[in-house]
Amino acid sequence: MLTNILEDLKSYNANLVAVSKTKSVVDILNIYNKGQRIFGENRVQEMAEKKDLLPDDIEWHMIGHLQKNKVKYMASFVHTIHSIDSLELLKAINKGAEKHHRVINILFQLKIATEESKFGMSLEDCLSVINSEDMKSLNNVIVSGVMGMATFTEDKEKVRNEFKTLKASFDYLKENYFLEDSNFKEISMGMSGDYHLALKEGSTMVRIGSLIFGARN
Ligand SMILES: *Cc1c(COP(=O)(O)O)cnc(C)c1O
Repeated sequence: MLTNILEDLKSYNANLVAVSKTKSVVDILNIYNKGQRIFGENRVQEMAEKKDLLPDDIEWHMIGHLQKNKVKYMASFVHTIHSIDSLELLKAINKGAEKHHRVINILFQLKIATEESKFGMSLEDCLSVINSEDMKSLNNVIVSGVMGMATFTEDKEKVRNEFKTLKASFDYLKENYFLEDSNFKEISMGMSGDYHLALKEGSTMVRIGSLIFGARN
């Protein structure tokens, strides 16, 4: 399955985050040995435990909802955090990165789904973070783009429209705030069930778990 997905991604020039949450280090190593280097987890402690047991050249991505007080467990190694939904969280990440003399890539998670359960902020809230005075002094985070999760539904048109909304938000931010900034380039959207659609709508990074690792318990 991994090879099929990678084949799909090639023509779109998009990257794969292999979502390994709940899966064992043996399962991860198996996919690692096929060449995959980017893995995504949604719980900080689980990611930190696995990281210690796996090769150092893995690029770890945090994709789940995040509390400020958990940042310290991953600030020394996390490559990208997809789930930024407040200035407070961003400041905590910057502080953690600074402590370890490194930079952490971050994506603003925008709420595109209509479901209550999905995290993320509105474009307006995102703009107030970007425009804040604090933002100017956050030198240990790199704003790499946006992330979003579509509604879990069979309704393809609905999902397509949500992806279009995320792409439009990305374009707006790029044009108005990050035009000269080549780091701002990622649109993290698409999971096992909707990644084809996401690629067509401009995804640069898909987050795929069950299609690669099998269903989770
Ligand atoms: C679990 C998860 C995924 C992957 O889901 P699959 O349907 O298994 O591909 C992607 N993104 C986030 C934020 C997740 O929590």
